[in-house]
Amino acid sequence: MKITEVKAVYPTYKNIAASWRTHFWQIVVRIETDQGITGLGYGGGGVAAVEVINGHFRELLLGTEINNIQDISKNWDLLYSASIPYGRKGIAVMALSGVDLALWDLLGKAEHCPVYELIGTRNKESVRAYATGTDVEWYAELGFTAHKFPHRWTSEKDVSSAISSARHSRNILGPNALLMIDTYMSWSFDTTLTMSKSLEEFNIYWFEDVVNPDALESQSKLRTLVQPTLIAGGEHEFTEYGYQEIAKAGALDLWQPDITWCGGITTAIRIVEMADALGIPVAPHRGGEVWGLHLIVSSKCDDLAEVLPGVKNGNKDYLWIDEPVPLNGYISPTDAPGFGVTVNEELLP
Ligand SMILES: [Mg+2]
Repeated sequence: MKITEVKAVYPTYKNIAASWRTHFWQIVVRIETDQGITGLGYGGGGVAAVEVINGHFRELLLGTEINNIQDISKNWDLLYSASIPYGRKGIAVMALSGVDLALWDLLGKAEHCPVYELIGTRNKESVRAYATGTDVEWYAELGFTAHKFPHRWTSEKDVSSAISSARHSRNILGPNALLMIDTYMSWSFDTTLTMSKSLEEFNIYWFEDVVNPDALESQSKLRTLVQPTLIAGGEHEFTEYGYQEIAKAGALDLWQPDITWCGGITTAIRIVEMADALGIPVAPHRGGEVWGLHLIVSSKCDDLAEVLPGVKNGNKDYLWIDEPVPLNGYISPTDAPGFGVTVNEELLP
């Protein structure tokens, strides 16, 4: 089938908080074909990425044949090369991710099969979900047995706030729950060591994004110093070329590519293959969203999917219709063609 139209939009989110991270600046990509099949993708990078797609990628994609995975891969290479002068990482690759996911959705729909079947043999029926956020009582009510809480370092007293969050979570979820901490690059090398000692009794599974993602050597050193806690990260890294640097430095115990940012499914497959060869576990950032979930069930990713339930009775935008929801702490993609979701037109401009 031939691509006849490509259009990216930035949704009109209603429940915007002060931070861009509320919606991670996510964009919607729609690709139409001469067969009447439409592919939908999800990328990052906000209006800048919309401009990259509509102003540059579109003209390169129009008229292109998409009939198999090799065609998608060829397109990935084409768009990556064409955007090298201003791309390689960040917004251009976040835009490319949205296009790549729309093409996988397109191919799944054309072949009447879910994307996970295009990726490989399904090896996980359902995936253990972990809840990221602060409403741990509600997560326990919902049946989660794994929780990641955010911790932002601003002053010395934050050691005690980390301890009280860990204690709270451990008390509610019990001794067997997985507990993780996401510091969003707010700790330092020394803070991470302090935290490792202060939080020892809570058996934290991983510390995520502890320092600047380019500080590969620091993270590599921390891996041995904070054992058995893992040093996790990678949501701010792009393409297999970026991950090759992480691998070379031995920077991380666990890799967390964001499928809607790192380059899409095409890149993610390459990253998971690299990780597998090195014996490194992969747990995609926001892996409970369909874009990551289809990869997790059909690849050697860990049996762990991140979901962001927010807080009980909190307002939320539902951009994707028919997204799977976790049940008793487990989540599973549907067998609908493509990624199995449609977009909520009410949230599109
Ligand atoms: Mg994170």
